Amino acid sequence: MIAKFDYHVPATLKEACEMKQEYGSSGVIVAGGSDVYAKLHDGNHRYDHVIDIKKIPEMKGIEWSEQEGLSLGAAVTHHEIERHPVITERYQVLVQGVRTVGSLQVRNRGTIGGNICTAAPSADGVGPLLVLNSECVIHGIGGERIVPLAEFFTGPKRTVLRSDEVLVRVRMKNPASRYGGAYFKYGRRNAMEIALLNISVYLEVDDDNKTCTEMRIALGTSAPTPIRVHKTEQYFIGKDLTDNEAVAKGGDLVIEEASPRSSWRANSNFRLTLLRQLVPRTVKTAYKSLIEE
Ligand SMILES: Cc1cc2nc3c(=O)[nH]c(=O)nc-3n(C[C@H](O)[C@H](O)[C@H](O)COP(=O)(O)OP(=O)(O)OC[C@H]3O[C@@H](n4cnc5c(N)ncnc54)[C@H](O)[C@@H]3O)c2cc1C
Repeated sequence: MIAKFDYHVPATLKEACEMKQEYGSSGVIVAGGSDVYAKLHDGNHRYDHVIDIKKIPEMKGIEWSEQEGLSLGAAVTHHEIERHPVITERYQVLVQGVRTVGSLQVRNRGTIGGNICTAAPSADGVGPLLVLNSECVIHGIGGERIVPLAEFFTGPKRTVLRSDEVLVRVRMKNPASRYGGAYFKYGRRNAMEIALLNISVYLEVDDDNKTCTEMRIALGTSAPTPIRVHKTEQYFIGKDLTDNEAVAKGGDLVIEEASPRSSWRANSNFRLTLLRQLVPRTVKTAYKSLIEE
């Protein structure tokens, strides 16, 4: 049974930030509620105030332009993202990621902002946003600040958000007109499974169609927070992506940058073994998506 709480629906960012500040640890921001209400149901969590931010105009809507790129309201659902025509055409790696979240019911409720702010190392929306070099628009009582998504997480379930701050939007520039992208989620089941690990890849190649000029790789459940693996990315620059041996070597490097923990789902060594195999495989899938387009 859920303990009684007061339900607040702020109409503006200012009201939401003031409420968050005022209620402190006795309050919680809620968007889709797929995490928050599940926690309230488990009986181990209790909040006296639930602050529902879904009605705030700045948190809604998907905006896109050739000049500015893509801007997602924090309250945009996974399902809105996966069926948006521009996103399905230009940001396939993001669509691949959000499509693996829970079930259609969860994707209909769950928001991209909630996925980010939960700060779970396994979040399926976050890796694709990391390889798309996204930034977070954050609002607090003192105004707005922009934080790169790569700097948003400070630890498992912890973020840079201050006691009066909410995430308002996630923005990213347009990817190159020609790029390869792939998302791979490893879990024991195909549906309703939190990732044992996940891998997001974005890459670009030279005019010869095989020499890597840009590589971005993000890992989930491979460190206390979702991470980019910059040394491994750097290794790929200038490599021939049709050279299987060279691509496989990226797997040897990535395990030096990852630090997955052991949990009841899988131990650390197993996750490292998976990463060594699956990172090169995901790079190849991303490369294929580019040359077969
Ligand atoms: C059955 C089930 C299956 C799931 N499967 C997956 C899965 O496969 N992959 C996956 O990644 N996730 C999964 N989830 C987790 C969850 O559904 C997603 O993370 C979802 O995107 C959370 O969004 P939400 O809007 O429902 O978050 P909420 O529950 O509303 O909020 C989550 C957290 O973020 C905070 N928050 C939300 N919005 C903001 C904001 N704008 N500013 C500041 N703080 C904010 C809240 O205070 C809370 O701490 C699953 C959940 C359930 C219940």
